[in-house]
Amino acid sequence: MELKNLTKGKIHHLLGLLETNEREGWYFGNKEQYWNRHRELEAELQLLLSGVSNRTSQKPTRYKCLLCGRDKFTRKTPHNCVGGYRKHKIEWQPIYD
Ligand SMILES: [Zn+2]
Repeated sequence: MELKNLTKGKIHHLLGLLETNEREGWYFGNKEQYWNRHRELEAELQLLLSGVSNRTSQKPTRYKCLLCGRDKFTRKTPHNCVGGYRKHKIEWQPIYD
């Protein structure tokens, strides 16, 4: 795994897990070490997150078709849209998770 492949969504995912862990209060190994590492990890992820947000080359994770409103497309692909199967003149909106 390379850190540069971490998307905003993944970082939020990890931060969410850390938050849950903190709320539930469980740990393993040395308690003090665990929570120190926990706090460091949290800070590093936050830092990473600000870096990712500023990255303009971030690729959209999904696309929304503005004609039919479906937003589960991973690629701009022909599909059964308004008025039938459509390949052209579809308006796409990139979605960044
Ligand atoms: Zn459509």
